[in-house]
Amino acid sequence: MANRRVLLSLAHPDDESFGSGGLIARYVAEGADVYYICATNGDVGTVAPEKLVGYNSVAELRIAELDCASEKLGFKEVFKFGYRDSGMMYSETTKDPASLWQAPRDAVAKRVVEVIRKVKPQVVITFNKYGGYGHPDHIAIQRATTDAFKLAGDPTYETGQEPYQPQKLYYSAFPALMFRINLLRVRLRGEDPRHLGRNKDFDMLAILDNMEPIHTRIDVKNYLEAWDEASACHDSQLGGGMPRLPMWVRRNFMNKQSLTRIHPVPSANRVDEHDLFTGVQLD
Ligand SMILES: [Zn+2]
Repeated sequence: MANRRVLLSLAHPDDESFGSGGLIARYVAEGADVYYICATNGDVGTVAPEKLVGYNSVAELRIAELDCASEKLGFKEVFKFGYRDSGMMYSETTKDPASLWQAPRDAVAKRVVEVIRKVKPQVVITFNKYGGYGHPDHIAIQRATTDAFKLAGDPTYETGQEPYQPQKLYYSAFPALMFRINLLRVRLRGEDPRHLGRNKDFDMLAILDNMEPIHTRIDVKNYLEAWDEASACHDSQLGGGMPRLPMWVRRNFMNKQSLTRIHPVPSANRVDEHDLFTGVQLD
């Protein structure tokens, strides 16, 4: 796995663990260098007051949680862009000038280009166009990263660095089967699938409507414990989102991480690879 480099470009301290922890743990274990752009400080995540003891702010707590998860996952380097968390769509916090949602798209893209040209990942992963579940910060970093993927290899785009073109771009995806089983569980428990999670902004039906085709499935069955360990670091954010299924169910049936391949463009909308580095030319 020498010379294999992956960059995840996401929004919050916890996106890396909750969404992609299994995949990250697997590639790090296999010797790839995995890098993480975390665009915001997670400032407006809902946190129980007792969790804040010993911290000056929610952001400080959440960055500490990210450092814990980064240590467990074994990132080569984490790039914290330091934007303010924009909070839920249509909330006042999306108007904060320091928020990621208010940051000019080209300025954020430039920062992503600088990271791409520095660490030279063959593979870049970000959210889908709906930002996974419609969070404004997820959408903002998705747009900036998609722009940056093209700009990084453009010799006329100036950052004072050598141009570098990554070979593959992916959107992370919810595994559809696990998702549908969880939707059923949510309905059976009498919960509202449109307003789930700690911040009540997790709309399972909208997520389903915005799912994109899966082209890549990564087997992570040997990394479920490592995934859970990293997720546990984000203690202040646990207890939201989708209910956790028992380990035996996960190990046997929910043992893959799914991605949508954007570049190179797939020839058909079906699963055609099981490794991020399929077809990649190594340096
Ligand atoms: Zn997030």
